[in-house]
Amino acid sequence: MEPQKVGPGQIDKIADDLKKDPEKSIGNYLFKGFRIQISKYKASGAERVQQLYKRRRAQGLCIVCGTKVTRKNPLTGKLYRLCDEHRAQIDQKNKEKAKAKKGK
Ligand SMILES: [Zn+2]
Repeated sequence: MEPQKVGPGQIDKIADDLKKDPEKSIGNYLFKGFRIQISKYKASGAERVQQLYKRRRAQGLCIVCGTKVTRKNPLTGKLYRLCDEHRAQIDQKNKEKAKAKKGK
């Protein structure tokens, strides 16, 4: 993952998050040419995936590929968890599942 360029103010914010809510501070940052990486030590693979999903969700990115999500769910008024492409894929899968169920 490409590090996110940050300024002094953001460094303060990251340090603050790290103290109060460490999970929020997790990320890859680039400050004046220095890379800062905050990750949980010895996190399991599943834990890391979960954190990645959570982070993408919080930033309004597709949880599968990390593309910026622009479309909102008209029912909830919130951004979708997935980009158009992945939403279409999952819709398709659900339709197939529903069909398979009906067929039984
Ligand atoms: Zn996607």
